[in-house]
This record gives sequence, structure tokens and C-alpha cells, in this order.
Amino acid sequence: MVVNNENRYSGGAKRFPEGGMDGVCSPLSHLSISKSDKQPASVHSPAEYCSYNVKSETVTPGLPGRSGTGYPICLCPPSLTRSFSPHKREPMVDTNDQLVRDMMMHDAERMSHPDAVVNRLVYDSHDCPGSNSQPWRTFKPEAWPFKNMKMKRDLLEQHPGEMLMGFVNKTLQPWYVPENDSDRTLVFESRFESGNLRRAIQVYNTEYDLILRPDINTRGHTQWFFFSISNTRKNVHYKINIINMQKDESLYHIGMQPIIYSEKAAAAEGRHWHRSGHNVCYYQNNIKRKNGKFYYTLTMTFEAKHDNDTIYVAHCYPYTYSELQKYIYGLEADPKRSIRVKREILCKTLAGNNCDLLTVTNFNLHPQILDSRKHIVITGRVHPGESNASWMMRGALEFLTGDSLEAKLLRDNFVFKIVPMLNPDGVINGNYRCSLAGVDLNRVWHYPSKKLHPTIFYTKEMIGRLQEDHKVLLMGDFHGHSRKCNVFMYGCERKATDNSNFKISGIPGFGVTDTMNFRIQEKIFPWLLKRNAPDAFSFAMSSFKVQKSKENTARVVCWREFGLINSFTLEASFGGPSEGANAWDHFGVKDFEGMGAKFVETILDFCNPDTTLIREVCLTLEEQYPVSKHSAALAMKMAAMNGGGTDSDDSGTDSDLDSGDEDKQQEGKKAAARKPQAKKKPRKRRASLVERQSQAK
Ligand SMILES: [Zn+2]
Repeated sequence: MVVNNENRYSGGAKRFPEGGMDGVCSPLSHLSISKSDKQPASVHSPAEYCSYNVKSETVTPGLPGRSGTGYPICLCPPSLTRSFSPHKREPMVDTNDQLVRDMMMHDAERMSHPDAVVNRLVYDSHDCPGSNSQPWRTFKPEAWPFKNMKMKRDLLEQHPGEMLMGFVNKTLQPWYVPENDSDRTLVFESRFESGNLRRAIQVYNTEYDLILRPDINTRGHTQWFFFSISNTRKNVHYKINIINMQKDESLYHIGMQPIIYSEKAAAAEGRHWHRSGHNVCYYQNNIKRKNGKFYYTLTMTFEAKHDNDTIYVAHCYPYTYSELQKYIYGLEADPKRSIRVKREILCKTLAGNNCDLLTVTNFNLHPQILDSRKHIVITGRVHPGESNASWMMRGALEFLTGDSLEAKLLRDNFVFKIVPMLNPDGVINGNYRCSLAGVDLNRVWHYPSKKLHPTIFYTKEMIGRLQEDHKVLLMGDFHGHSRKCNVFMYGCERKATDNSNFKISGIPGFGVTDTMNFRIQEKIFPWLLKRNAPDAFSFAMSSFKVQKSKENTARVVCWREFGLINSFTLEASFGGPSEGANAWDHFGVKDFEGMGAKFVETILDFCNPDTTLIREVCLTLEEQYPVSKHSAALAMKMAAMNGGGTDSDDSGTDSDLDSGDEDKQQEGKKAAARKPQAKKKPRKRRASLVERQSQAK
């Protein structure tokens, strides 16, 4: 943290009067700090601060939850999700074009000599002993595959019980059992939480083609992978080709390595999850998809260091649903942390899993003071394959429930509403992007269905109510990014031509002029985060454009519908930073956790009653984003809408005639400017290209 504790806390008696802040918790009012977190007998039930108190039920920690698919899954070995080697930097590897050429030559060679190819199926997750073969067919054969969304929705609504059953098996018989010691066939497995290998085909003695299972109820989104191989032989190099990747860009292009966990290395050397694999290469192959495009291959080679080892391979450090459950139970069992955090069940998912809602604050204050606190909403893991988002979430929770003075300040002044896993079903099933209903839940925020997208429906409703009752200061949705480096943010910048009539809320003036403030408000928090996490966070890569393709995301919907200026998506690369002291090193779990902690810690700088830092930041941002005609017009319009002030607490939202006329004038000018057809077309093409290139998670 750049601003030291002394500065934050100095003159605590003046700046942070004990016990309260005149019933108001504005960023510009005084922050307060209480004497203790200790819960007195008269303390509120935490349910009073949560919008939803769905009937809580006892969940056995450590069980993987319900898959909702009928396919059996077993639990990851407990050591898997929590074992990490002592943190040391792991640089990305050098890449060269020759490697791609070599791999393509290898594939061509294989095609021209098919007789030499073994071509033997050695694993099929849907046809394993103990699996219900094609369980969906047993339900309603004529309905599979779903022909359209309506059929899918109808079935889910009419037959939830049959459709959404899940199995938990402790042990599963492997698909392939080696005949004897000389049988060196690798034994694959992925029927564990977050595993998603569908088939493995042996092509040469030590080379295997793998096919990932698409997201449940979809035909695509293959990117995340998590599986194990066993029956290895020491010093043998195994070449693994995942042949149905779908994205055209990947961080494997620039030297990212997958992560592996060897059971024997962990036992013998204490070496747990780490980056590994050589000749890692990502390239387009010659297998055509139904849409006319081609699949991509991710190939990697591992050298086994032990005989009869079991090696787990994953796209990123796994963080399963059961791991989250264990973590929350750990918080609840900790005598210190348990009084700072309360868990409730926000809702049930389609598969019947709990979606947890955590409230972190200092509950030891008068109800009126608690009611007056501003709320901060943090969500994560809407995209199940982005496990780095969960590690950031864990870092944020560790920090918020910890003993530091900063954490105490945050708990004393804010209420954190945290939904750590918005898509538990997807996480359990090893999806990359979608829910059990085959839907990208970060594209349904405009109109979430209570039945099909319950976690989004209830989270959105909660945010709406919090904003109405208490005001939401900031909303952060944690994600992982598969094509870009660094950690960065997406925010929402309002265009002067935007006609939607929404009310500004969030941070008032900060002492800068209103005209200036309108165009930089949403950039202040990211700038402060860059200041606090210079080796991981990139402000330059952050974007504040609201693209058409993102209209239905959490960030944009919360901004537009609830008027949250500080509505952000926090994206962490699966790879690592390209700038700062750790440039071109891989991110490790500690980096992700540290980023989550910095995110919440930065709120203190953002709301520091001493506005010196904020003023500095505003000046810098003003230089970087000079006043344009648009921003000036927007400032005038917003000032008019808000009755001449910037404070969002004013409830008047009616758009006056002036601003409406201004909009019409601008629309008229725009239409006139657009008239010549020749200019319109290329602009549109460019826009769609840009949109596609920067399409994020
Ligand atoms: Zn995402």
C-alpha cells in the first residue's frame, strides 16, 4: 500500500472518531473505527443485513455438491486444491514460430501415414464403469439434444427433479485398467469436481489426443481443462494434444504453461501445483467445426519423474465448489473471523446446490449506524473455468476478515456483500463459461429468470434493494482472462449521446469541478488500484467503453439500471503480467490472492477523508482525459439531471426538457453526419472488428 497506515490512521481521534459518523457513511464523511469487533449480546442477527434469508440447511463440507447431470463425479483428492509450492516466480517460456511449424509437420506426417497411428480409445468419461450411459436419454430421448432454448426451458421447469439429479460417488472404476506391468497405456480420469475430459485416444505409444467435454447443454466453450493421467513410467516424455479448443487466441501463444500436480513429487519433494510442460504450443488444426471454422490444438509434453505416478493437469489452479465450502466452514470455525463474517444461502442453483452469500462487516454497532453504512458488492466465478477469480475472492475474504488495521477500518465503515461463486453448477461440472442450462450467466443480467438463472436473479435483486435502502458504493465482479496479460478492469463510461435516463450514484465530487468530474469518475478507483498493485494491475489495459456485446453483463446492467458509477469487472490474466517488476512471470496463487486483497484495501484510499491523494489522481486523470465536446455536453446534461449538483443522494431523476432537446439536437446532428452511405459501412466494419478483438470474458 502506498499510503501508509500512519497516514490513514494518524489523528485517528480526529479523522476516525470512535463509534460512529453522524449516521452517514459517505466517502467524504469521516471514516470511523470502533474499539473492538467483539459481538455484544444485543448484536443484530446477521440476517437483518442480508436481503435474502433462504432457509439455511446443513451442508456436509467436503462433498462436491450436485452435478445435476446424472453423471457420477468423485471428489478431488483433498490435497489437490489447497497444495501450492512455496511461492517462487515461474517465468513464462520462450516461444518461437518454428515450434508451431514443427507441430503442424508432425500432424501432417500423421495424416500421411495413418497405418502407424494406434488410434485406440483409452478413456470416455460418459461411458465409464459406474457411469450412467447417456443419462439424458433415459429421461426423455426425443428431447435430446434440445432443439431450442424454449424446449430446454420447458423441460427444466416441468421436470426439475428428474432432470437435475446428481450423483456423488467416492470411488469410480477407471475406464481402462492396465493388463500387467508391461502395459504402459496411460490411464485417464476426469470424473471429479471441475474435471472435463470427455475422451482420450492413444495415437502413438506415448502420444494421446484428448477431447474436452463442451459446457453442459452447449456445443462449445472448450478452454478450461482438468484431468489426471496415471500409470506413468519414469523418464518417459508424454505428448498430450487437446484437439478441440475453440478460441483463436491464447496465452499459450506467448509462453504460458499449464499447471501440473504430481502425487509422487508432492509426497517425495513437497512439490505441489506448479507450471510445467515443454513444447507447449497452440495452433489451428485441420478439424472442421460445423460452423465452418476450425478447431485449435493445445499440445504439451511432460516428462514423468516417477513410475506409476498420477499427474493432474489443469488450465489454471483449480478452485472447486467443495473447496469454497471448506473455506467458508473454516471462516465460521475460526473464533476471530467468525464474528466478522456471516453466511447465508442466497438461493439454490438448478442442480440444487447452495449459492452462498457472505456478509462481512463489524456487526458490533448500533443498528442505525449499520443501516447507514454504504455497501460494497463483490461477486465472482460466474464463469466457472476462471478459477483465478476464486483465488482473488479468497484473497479479498482473507484480508477483510483478518486482523489488520485496514481490514478493521473497512469492516467498521462498510458492509461487504459477497457472492463468491455465482455459478456453482458450472464449477462442479467443469464448464468453462456456462451454467447447467447452457447459458452464459454474465449475459442475462438485463432480465434474469428466477427459475433458469436463480443466482443472477437474486444477486441482482439484492443489489437493487441495497442501492435503494443503503446505497451501494462499488460493485466488483471477478473474472479471469484467457487472451490478455496483467490484471485490469472494465468500467462504464457514459457517452454524451447516451439518451438513457439513469440516475448517477456513487461517489460525489471529490472537490474537483463538476465538468471535469463527469468524465473521470469511473476511472479513479482503477487508477488507485494501479497505484497499490503496480506489479500486477495495468490501468493502461483497462477499458471504460460500453460495448453492445457487453450490455447484459453484471457491470453494465448495474451501472445502467442502478446508476452505479463504480461498477467494475476485474479481469486477471491466466498467464501473468507484461509490465512491472514481475513482467513475463506467471501469476501464482499468491499473486491472485494479493490482487483480491489490494482490491478491497484500495477502497480505503478511495474513501479516505483526506482527499489529497484523490485530488492528485483527479488532476492526473484530467490531463490524461482532456475535456472533449462530448464530455462537456455530458457534464451539462448530468448537472441538469441532478439538479445542478453531483450528489447522487438526490432522488430527483426526471430528465428535463433541456437535456432531452439537447439529445435530440445531437441525434439530429449525428443522423446528418451519418447520411453519406459510403462512410457508414467501413465504420461499422471496423467497429465489429474491434468489438470482436476485445471481446472479453
Ligand atoms: Zn469471465
